[in-house]
Parts: sequence; C-alpha cells; structure tokens
Amino acid sequence: MVDTHTHLYMDSFSKEEPDGCQAAVDRAVEAGVELMVLPAVDRESAAEVAALHAARPERTRTAMGLHPTEVGEDWREELDDIVATLGPTSPVAIGEVGIDLYWDDSKIALQKEAFIAQILLAARLGLPVIIHCRDAMEQCCECIVAAGEQLGGQLPPLVFHSFTGSPDDVRRIRQVCDPYFGINGVVTFKNSGRLPDAVKEIGLGRLLLETDSPYLAPVPKRGRRNESAYLSHINSKIAEILAISPQETDEATTRNAKDFFRI
Ligand SMILES: [Zn+2]
Repeated sequence: MVDTHTHLYMDSFSKEEPDGCQAAVDRAVEAGVELMVLPAVDRESAAEVAALHAARPERTRTAMGLHPTEVGEDWREELDDIVATLGPTSPVAIGEVGIDLYWDDSKIALQKEAFIAQILLAARLGLPVIIHCRDAMEQCCECIVAAGEQLGGQLPPLVFHSFTGSPDDVRRIRQVCDPYFGINGVVTFKNSGRLPDAVKEIGLGRLLLETDSPYLAPVPKRGRRNESAYLSHINSKIAEILAISPQETDEATTRNAKDFFRI
C-alpha cells in the first residue's frame, strides 16, 4: 500500500516524543505501507516535510505546494520559499493546492490565481497535482479548464484528494479532466453518504488510498489521531464496496500510486 496523502510531519506526532514523526513512519511500514507522500501546505510545513523526508528517505516522498487556506496577498513569495525548500528533495507532486470555500470565501480571487499558477508550475516541472477541493467543486473545475486552455489541453495528471462526493460529482469532474480520486477514512464512516457509490463510479483504475493523517481516522480508530499505519482499514472498506479482495485493492491502488507519482 501507498499512503498518497499524509501529514506525519506535523507536531501532533512530535510534541509528545521527539522522534514521534519518524516513529509514525516506522509503524506504518510495520503495518504494510511501503511509501508515504508528504504534502506541504505552507512555508513552515515545507521545512517539516523536508526534515522528515531526510530522516526517512526510503519510505517518504515529498510534495510542494501552497494550500488554498494559506493563500494571502504574498502567495507568490511564499510559494517561491516552498519551492526553494522542497525543490532539492525531488518532489513527486505539486500539492496540496486548490480551492477551499469552507473556512473562508473572501479570498476566492487569490485562491484561483494561486491554484491556476500551481497547475502551470506542475506542467512546467513535469509533475502531477494533488488537489484540495472543499465546498468549491465548480470553482475547481473552472480553474482546471482555465489552466488546460493555457496548456493547450495538456493538463498534468491530477488527483482530487480527500474525495467525499457523489457519483454525480465524479461525472461532473470527468467533464473537465480525467483525474484520480484519493479516498480516506471518511469512506469507513456510517454517514459516508453517497461516497461508496462514488467509489464504484470511479472504479479500481482511478482510486488512490490516503489517510490524510492526523485527520479523519478511519473506523475503528475514529475520533483518535489518525496515522498512516491505519491505511489498511481504508483499503479493506474499498474492497468490501467493490466486492473484491483487499489484496486486489492493495495491488491496484499501489500500481495507481506508482503510475501517478512515477515512484
Ligand atoms: Zn492534506
């Protein structure tokens, strides 16, 4: 298994024990997770991502980007700093980037500008893009279309991370691009809505596993701090939804992750 989206570098892992981040990587490896992709969200986290990757270079890969909730007037400078910090770590993606109107919708113009610019950056660097889209599906689609026009239709590979939408949402997104969908612990929740149907709509060929640690711990760990070691609960739930074996979902999603990130 590959955890395609995990924030094990955060202080929720290091504040109680100094080597807590490395220990969380080691527990995940023990639990059958061979690789973990660590997306930055801002300038400070970029340094934390680089540090954890330096400590566990075999098991972690980095992604560099400015998260939509962190976008301010000075986003270009902050992005330059993130690229300066993480560029030397051979990042496997640009991310996480996108649009988030859940927390604050006052900066929508800046969020769009930064999202489109980071898709173009990914295309220039030959990297895929990890998209964070919250309460902003139409706005995300709009930016993807705008970037695609500037790129003559040659969009980089995309993943909608932490996807929790419906089959209709999957079809809507597929009108503008053909992305992967990152599925996390939400799929194990009782109130996961139409997400299981969306997983069927997406199909095995376009699914990626992720934990989004330390958030959204899957059942039976729900309510606790999440970590990559819990990834198999998500894999098993997807297998159950698709009525195949966990080994099949493990193999398919691992292959997808390796194709997508070229790792
Ligand atoms: Zn994230």
